[in-house]
Amino acid sequence: MSAISAVTNWQPLSPALNFAETPAHEVFNANVFSREVMKARLPKAVYKTLLGTIEAGKKLDASIADAVASAMKDWAIAKGATHYAHVFYPLTGATAEKHDSFLAPDGEGGALAEFTGKQLIQGEPDGSSFPTGGIRATFEARGYTIWDVTSPAYILENRNGTTLCIPTAFVSWTGEALDKKTPVLRSMQALNEQAQRILKLFGHTDGAFVASTAGPEQEYFLIDRNFYFSRPDLFTTGRTLFGAKPPKGQEFEDHYFGAIPERVLAFMHDSEHELYKLGVPVKTRHNEVAPAQYEIAPIFESANLATDHQHMVMLILRRVAEKYGMACLTHEKPFSGVNGSGKHVNWSLGSKTQGNLLDPGDNPHTNAQFLVFCAAVIRAVHKHQGLLRAVVATAGNDHRLGANEAPPAIISIFLGDQLTDVFQQIKKGGANSSISKGTLTVGVDVLPPFPKDAGDRNRTSPFAFTGNRFEFRAVGANQSIAGALVAMNTIVCESLDYCATKLEAANPKNEKELSAALQTLLAEIIKECESIVFNGDGYSAAWHQEAAKRGLLNLKTSVDALSQLKAPAVQELFTKYNVLSHRELESRLDIYLEQYIKTVRVEALQTLEMARTLIFPAAIRYQNELASTCANLKLVGYSFDTDTLDRVTDMVKGLQESLGGLEKAMSHHDADGLQSEAAHFCDEVLPAMAEVRKWADDLEGWVADDLWPLPTYQEMLFIK
Ligand code: ADP
Ligand code: MG
Repeated sequence: MSAISAVTNWQPLSPALNFAETPAHEVFNANVFSREVMKARLPKAVYKTLLGTIEAGKKLDASIADAVASAMKDWAIAKGATHYAHVFYPLTGATAEKHDSFLAPDGEGGALAEFTGKQLIQGEPDGSSFPTGGIRATFEARGYTIWDVTSPAYILENRNGTTLCIPTAFVSWTGEALDKKTPVLRSMQALNEQAQRILKLFGHTDGAFVASTAGPEQEYFLIDRNFYFSRPDLFTTGRTLFGAKPPKGQEFEDHYFGAIPERVLAFMHDSEHELYKLGVPVKTRHNEVAPAQYEIAPIFESANLATDHQHMVMLILRRVAEKYGMACLTHEKPFSGVNGSGKHVNWSLGSKTQGNLLDPGDNPHTNAQFLVFCAAVIRAVHKHQGLLRAVVATAGNDHRLGANEAPPAIISIFLGDQLTDVFQQIKKGGANSSISKGTLTVGVDVLPPFPKDAGDRNRTSPFAFTGNRFEFRAVGANQSIAGALVAMNTIVCESLDYCATKLEAANPKNEKELSAALQTLLAEIIKECESIVFNGDGYSAAWHQEAAKRGLLNLKTSVDALSQLKAPAVQELFTKYNVLSHRELESRLDIYLEQYIKTVRVEALQTLEMARTLIFPAAIRYQNELASTCANLKLVGYSFDTDTLDRVTDMVKGLQESLGGLEKAMSHHDADGLQSEAAHFCDEVLPAMAEVRKWADDLEGWVADDLWPLPTYQEMLFIK
């Protein structure tokens, strides 16, 4: 096939990176309007004021905008920028940008570069083409982008020019959030307020901003572009809607952490190089479990910045993949029967002076402050398991969650032996010991003995304590991490509020009284919430039964999960801490349902089209070949059976009937609103698509290879 020969003859399109001459640390932040640049280019007073907002969350003083804008412009123009763009994150989950030229006519036939404080602070893109979930009608188009000082401006390069990019929040003319960033910022502010109350009880009154921190691990697939563009399903829906299981899948487990193929490694170096320039601290890379699957992870940063950087990671991976003749797939389940891709969001909170507040130290049982923060997380996840499930609900992620490779749709917490033991002691009246870490000797003299972690890892838990942070593993590879972070920040904020209120009410006058109040509070929380703690195998069927007994939610589909956003506890949560108003939350639910419906609709239409115009024609051509072979053999007097023809004919018939079934499911129109429309797509359309696929995949195993119109799983996953 021509695609295969194109793949095997692939040559690099651009010269190799000159990595020996420019060491990575010189590249890092090269295209960022970083603190260093600001310090060098801004008047001292302006720099100080700006830093107050960036670091301590102080209210932005708008009067400094002109000075900042002017410095930013000069810096950008020196780096070849001709345009600036307000970058924002609409609810589609994508990144949007509106570009404007710096140039303005000078009135004398020439042009001069201009960029004012006002232009920096505020932009006005037409809001009408972005989903608002009914907050605004299409004619009410006015939307604003507002400069987010806490996420530095940067320069995006292109072969033919560079653009100064300014991260912004996107709100409607009425002040409602239309984007992913605004609630992240609001939830961080709310979390800080409540965390300060707890810190104060422990005598820490310096007020250093407590920020939530995030380190997202991104999984993705890389396949050759020749295959990608031969698969209409892949390039329109992001996943294969057809494809039989290859003879060799991932059963040998030989890909995980295996040596990285040369072309892929070149791609990784290049994308990391680009990300370094943008100040994204990418750190880890490795092969993942499935063939052609990889992972990239940065070092954690403050949640807002991590979110913006995560958007950049996805963008850069896609762009650089093109350069290497490959396509980067970030769909949660591009290949059925092969592991899917998630985005593990590592989450914690901390401040400059206090460090990581979820670090237990060596003896967690004596670390009362840690225990309060940890208990607050446990309580939060227990109370809002439905919300956590809802924020990872997308049509794509449904193919992954609950399958035997990804966390189950049941939300639970893995605490590990050490913490579970400490909390059990507290429950019984007080903790006196922590299981110690110990050392591990491998039994080979040349290998050094090393300290062992206090607990083993658990890969099956959707929400796991991993030593000094929690890792939310249910997030989908294609999702923005904003939703997950907003949820984690806000539910923990609520729990910290709860803890602080209880502890303040006890009015402890000395350490002993504080200790007693803590013991009461923690024991009460663990008694009430321990059903959410599960250290066992989350993939097992036994866990599903056990979880049901414990009364935990098991929301299998997005449609079930999204309706959790309507729960009174969720609405109260978001309004109480000013993270999302009632209207904003409702609009989000509508948008997510709409997105679900649109996604499945496009997949269904694509299924119909490919089955009708690619697979069916191939099948009947083969059927015809078989039939004429039979007729010819009969003619020359052979006695034979028509087994193969019979089977293929059965499959062709099955395919035809299943197409009828899918057409019928698609012809249904529901006027009852988004929720029931989404349910229809989930309960009727998806199974009808699966039926079409079943026949098509069966046929793939029989039809002559030279007639089969699509690259196979084997080709896409193994030819590199
Ligand atoms: P894993 O072993 O889970 O695959 P990785 O090293 O791939 O771990 O990723 C772990 C992620 O957790 C990294 O992005 C790391 O920076 C992040 N992380 C570490 N400490 C914190 C923290 N305090 N808050 C948030 N994220 C953190
Ligand atoms: Mg990892």
